[in-house]
Amino acid sequence: MQEKIYTIQIWDAFNNANECPFCYIKKEVEKQYLKTVIDELVMDYHFHDRIVEYAFCTEHLNMFYKKSDKLGFATLLEKMIGLEIKNMHKINKFNISRDSIRKRKCYLCERIEKSIEKSIDSTISLWLENEKFHSLYKKNGTFCQPHFFDLINKGKKIKSFIKKKKFLIITYETHNERIDLIEKNLKEYIKKFDFNYKNEDIKIDKEILIESINIVKND
Ligand SMILES: [Zn+2]
Ligand SMILES: [Zn+2]
Repeated sequence: MQEKIYTIQIWDAFNNANECPFCYIKKEVEKQYLKTVIDELVMDYHFHDRIVEYAFCTEHLNMFYKKSDKLGFATLLEKMIGLEIKNMHKINKFNISRDSIRKRKCYLCERIEKSIEKSIDSTISLWLENEKFHSLYKKNGTFCQPHFFDLINKGKKIKSFIKKKKFLIITYETHNERIDLIEKNLKEYIKKFDFNYKNEDIKIDKEILIESINIVKND
């Protein structure tokens, strides 16, 4: 059942993303988790214990601030500040360093990372098991640079040599063509600002900047 949910998610992302399908899934999963954290905080007392193991990164704290209900977020912050105070009390006052406080991972980053890893596995399984998926994969398999490399790393583990070779070549060639096209369109877009091309109707809009960000970003 769980596997089926992942498969539906992959079809949906490759059909509707208009960007890297895994970035699209990341945003969807992120939205769900942001809500779940606040709900769990209110409903589930064990969540308070689990939160001790984790922290939140600045990006996700800012998302909570902008998108979640303020009472829920304030309650979360109250728990976390309580933990910081407890930690402060444990510190040896005469030997304070940042290492005195145990490093904790971002609760959301870790959960999202696991979901994306699973989505990449499911994409490869779907590609191996369902030939109908091949044309959609080739058409809309436009990945950001980090997810392209994640996909290639996982693709290298395909057991059948022939299938592995086919998957890696298709993924590489499609991605490469895509980057070439982005570069070409970006050059066109830049011409819009050039007086020499002022009479030309250049159709490329600022979306190309987002597409370019997805190639150069490094997270
Ligand atoms: Zn991506
Ligand atoms: Zn995070």
